[in-house]
Amino acid sequence: MSIEKLLIANRGEIALRIHRAAHEMGIKTVAVHSTADADAMHVRLADEAVCIGPPAAKDSYLNIPAIISAAEVTGADAIHPGYGFLSENARFAEIIEAHDIVFVGPKPEHIRTMGDKVEAKRTAVELGLPVVPGSPGAVTFGAETKRLAEEIGYPVLIKAASGGGGRGMKVVPDAASLESLMGQAASEAAAAFGDSTVYMEKYLGNPRHIEFQVFGDGNGNAIHLGERDCSLQRRHQKVLEEAPSPVISAEERARMGGICADAMAKMGYRGAGTIEFLWENGEFFFIEMNTRIQVEHPVTEMITGFDLVREQIRIADGRGLSVAQEDLEFRGHAIECRINAEDPRSFMPSPGKVTAYHPAGGMHVRVDSGLYAGYSIPPYYDSMIGKLIVYGRTRESCMMRMRRALEEMVVGGVKTNIPLHQALLADPDVIDGNYTIKWLEEWLAKQDAEAKE
Ligand code: ADP
Repeated sequence: MSIEKLLIANRGEIALRIHRAAHEMGIKTVAVHSTADADAMHVRLADEAVCIGPPAAKDSYLNIPAIISAAEVTGADAIHPGYGFLSENARFAEIIEAHDIVFVGPKPEHIRTMGDKVEAKRTAVELGLPVVPGSPGAVTFGAETKRLAEEIGYPVLIKAASGGGGRGMKVVPDAASLESLMGQAASEAAAAFGDSTVYMEKYLGNPRHIEFQVFGDGNGNAIHLGERDCSLQRRHQKVLEEAPSPVISAEERARMGGICADAMAKMGYRGAGTIEFLWENGEFFFIEMNTRIQVEHPVTEMITGFDLVREQIRIADGRGLSVAQEDLEFRGHAIECRINAEDPRSFMPSPGKVTAYHPAGGMHVRVDSGLYAGYSIPPYYDSMIGKLIVYGRTRESCMMRMRRALEEMVVGGVKTNIPLHQALLADPDVIDGNYTIKWLEEWLAKQDAEAKE
């Protein structure tokens, strides 16, 4: 068995990214798209395209029957879900496999386990990953919960088991507010996810977000590809990512990466995954695992020379891991700036017609984007319209190159966050790698205050 035709169940830059990997492997591609994306670049470049519904994602990119029919009609023998949309939907993976189509992703049971935060944390402990101290499972308000909070020490964090995007999360400063904040977290969780289950964790005051890229072959072999530092976030959305992390030494990378790879081997994990940690005072704390390719995967590709999407397809095809851990080398530094069509100050989305487009270029510069002059950015989806990724031998040369590339890049007709990235790369804290997950929001608040004066 080998994959000959791959259906890409996604849109935008990641659909294009997957198409490129497939074509380089001699695999034909099928694009699926909503009516709003008929003119998208990935649709133009794919060998075949099928319209699967109207603009609203729930009727198109989340429409499982329409996607399966498109695969049947075109004779696609594999489906790649990309990120977002159905990529972490275990049911989707099961349905694909029930149709004798290859799912380019993990085993459905692993998607399910990691999708439930309480279960994921329990599994992480079992697999030997360091976790944030907290409740062993779900908690409800009562004497035992109060005792547990005292034991962990205030402030504690209440989190929704089915949470996502930081919703259903409450920081509890003291015992007096425990009951009411737990109630609020549970009702928020019930409203957003239809599940009021919450659990408790120690609240880390000022951590960094550091995540490890892993791959497993599904048969007990696994590798890690080092870490990415994604601490520059606004409302839990990553803005700029880099690899390696400015605070992780080669020894620490090997040690922690080894722990992650061993965990994946023990689990029998298949395909690409990311194990996310908060990092504070030299200690790692597992927060969640993403069972898919991530937006920021190119920074890892830049410093390893390893094509992550190609590897995903190879593993799905049953060809195993293409490299051994000892053959992987980490070289130089890479930064990714997410380019969003939005106001760089108010962050209001700015969809519309792109009147001019000039991607940055030159040595070690990569632009992953479906943009072209004349393209209309639809208002229905995420505002990320591309990614600018650069490599440098050192972190310093990488930042110099990124400043140069940002200066070159032209996206006319809509607002973009390019000026925000330029300001960030001129800031002494960013230059020194001296930032945490709180840094960007505090910096933005300071900028707003100064603008008002
Ligand atoms: P979600 O799935 O909602 O994104 P995560 O568990 O990934 O939930 O947490 C989202 C963000 O919330 C993290 O990136 C971090 O900024 C913050 N966070 C999560 N757990 C903690 C904690 N124990 N202490 C401090 N901040 C936390």
